[in-house]
Amino acid sequence: MDKSKGAEILSVKGKCTLSGEDMEKVETILEHAEQYCKAHGARLTSKRKQVLSGLLQSEKALSAYELVDFCKTKFGVSIPAMSVYRILDFLQGEYLVHKLNLANKYVACAHITCAHSHAVPQFLICGQCKKVEEISISKSTIDVLEKSVEHAGFHLVSPQLEMNCVCEACMVNAV
Ligand SMILES: [Zn+2]
Ligand SMILES: [Zn+2]
Ligand SMILES: [Zn+2]
Repeated sequence: MDKSKGAEILSVKGKCTLSGEDMEKVETILEHAEQYCKAHGARLTSKRKQVLSGLLQSEKALSAYELVDFCKTKFGVSIPAMSVYRILDFLQGEYLVHKLNLANKYVACAHITCAHSHAVPQFLICGQCKKVEEISISKSTIDVLEKSVEHAGFHLVSPQLEMNCVCEACMVNAV
């Protein structure tokens, strides 16, 4: 898997990810993640795996503290928040996890089992149920955005977009 930063996703249509609810799918994704780390000499230790599986099982973004709680209830292990932060840093570096900067929470990458390269991730966040969807936006759109930013006299530091949305399920419920 080539997940080199900045590489452009060419044809990613629809959902790449397996849904996070099914435990079997979570296992499959964890296995991919483990192989992916192994392939370049990194190790997905059991604690790193536990943190990642917490994010895979949640459709929402979780904070480090919510992950501490998850590991305690689910696996009976207490991992100090500082370690969870370090684990999240590692997972982010491996492109297995992304950080939502505005919410200061984390989500599992939607493309762990994919073979394509990873572009700058963009996120749709449901303001009501907090469900998060990782999408990719074409490079040309990002370029246009960047131009308007430069035009306004600013420099775009991170092109990661976190968009405030309402998901389909919540929209149906609102009717
Ligand atoms: Zn991703
Ligand atoms: Zn994908
Ligand atoms: Zn929703």
